[in-house]
Amino acid sequence: MTVPIVAYGHPILRNVASFITPGQVELERLIEDMWETMYASNGIGLAAPQVNHSIRVFIVDTRQLFESMEGAEQKDYPDKPGFKAVFINAKILELSGEPWPYSEGCLSIPKIHELVSRPSTVRLQYMNEKFEPFEQVFTGITARVILHEYDHIEGKLFIDHISPLKRKLLKGKLTDITKGKITVDYKMKFHL
Ligand code: ZN
Repeated sequence: MTVPIVAYGHPILRNVASFITPGQVELERLIEDMWETMYASNGIGLAAPQVNHSIRVFIVDTRQLFESMEGAEQKDYPDKPGFKAVFINAKILELSGEPWPYSEGCLSIPKIHELVSRPSTVRLQYMNEKFEPFEQVFTGITARVILHEYDHIEGKLFIDHISPLKRKLLKGKLTDITKGKITVDYKMKFHL
């Protein structure tokens, strides 16, 4: 079932989300709804706070991004052919590599894209949907999307990474999103 995506301005997007234990939430259903909602809105990542659950769960699928790329474009990214997974209780163990800029967007902040600089490599500890533990190193677009989604469970947004001047220039657009004055082709939940 697709569920509404929480829009910028809703306080849940600013919460530091909680770690979860097995059985605490109806996880199977939540994850199913998150995949469906993410694909329906053409996203490549989605975090639980964006569907109104303040818990440390996010999903990522960068494979679809590579599938849509031309051959030459793919060479720019070391994480070809992408990665698809559910990340539960993720914890960043180490960030490394030269920070690089990439134009980011967010389903909670529609129609705004800004260059965000992030480290190229992340070593992450997490659990999958069966609460099996993993420790893994990610690079390329996959690391980028993981860091964007990780921000969400820490109550941060990609616009926090841009310059104060750029943020000031976006103020009108952000206020419009907060007030629900935006048209998107997916369901959104506003804090009015
Ligand atoms: Zn986002």
